[in-house]
Amino acid sequence: MIIFSEKHQDLNQNIKILKEKDINYLIRNQDNKNIIIIISDLNKELKNILTENLKYKKILIDDSADQYLNKNRYIKYKENTLFQDGTFEIIAGPCSIENKKQMEIIGINLAKLDIKFIRGGAFKPRTSPYDFQGLQKEGLELLKSQAKKHDFFVITEVMESSQIELINNYTDIFQIGSRNMYNYSLLKKIGNQAKPVLLKRGMSASYEEFILAAEYIQSQGNKNIILCERGIRTFEKKTRFTLDLMAVPILKKLADYPIIVDPSHGTGRWDLIKPAVMASYCTGAQGVMIEVHPDPDLALSDGFQSLNIDNFKDLINRINMIEGF
Ligand code: PEP
Ligand code: MN
Repeated sequence: MIIFSEKHQDLNQNIKILKEKDINYLIRNQDNKNIIIIISDLNKELKNILTENLKYKKILIDDSADQYLNKNRYIKYKENTLFQDGTFEIIAGPCSIENKKQMEIIGINLAKLDIKFIRGGAFKPRTSPYDFQGLQKEGLELLKSQAKKHDFFVITEVMESSQIELINNYTDIFQIGSRNMYNYSLLKKIGNQAKPVLLKRGMSASYEEFILAAEYIQSQGNKNIILCERGIRTFEKKTRFTLDLMAVPILKKLADYPIIVDPSHGTGRWDLIKPAVMASYCTGAQGVMIEVHPDPDLALSDGFQSLNIDNFKDLINRINMIEGF
């Protein structure tokens, strides 16, 4: 639902009501007028109250807010416009940065395939404290050296505020992981940074919670946010998570951030990455993030959901064959 009014008084009154009732909303500016976009479901009674409140007219009730949102979703970074509608960006790299050799093989192969974005974890949020936790600063150095050599943009995860300063020296885009989507103090801190943020959906987060997490970042001034659908927990056991691809069209109706899909974490199975990538393209996603490893069987994390180099090449060649790419 959208409330639009010529007069600020009208909107203020309604914002007060929404606050009192604990209803979630976003405020956007269009043609220098404020618009309130209500992302919660509203009952009829509340819709009526909000409508009656508008002295100066006019209220618009609609199922989707997309026509009032920024149609040209993109992020701006150093003169570049990235992840805009109509593009399908590929982010690829290992789950964890492990050693120089691994990163060199990945770097050279991504470059051959014209991939623009390299990923890799240096600080790893592992389910078990006994698993590999990442190479930290040494890992960041290895990632950055490949980026310099082949002219990639770097994406890496920041797990806590104390890491921001260090990671800022190495990354182009900060990744906030699924487990941290509800970490509002980290979201606010990253909202004060100048660089873009890739925000992954919490594994049990509703669309509304996901949008509001992005709004936490935006509320501090950083509007360069990319959402990432990465699968949610369901009862199904054949996949690690259930990739919720309808997140893409639905979030495009409700929010004005680019959205990409992570088929590696979203399925937990390398053999499902290809169909998941193809399906993501069809939903209108602005890209995908894929885990790649020279020898997935020996990977220190997430080998079972990583493509080897040959399978990755095959996938990229297929993507390039689709008309419109
Ligand atoms: C990752 O992308 O490395 C990762 C840990 O993903 P998620 O936060 O979605 O689990
Ligand atoms: Mn991983």
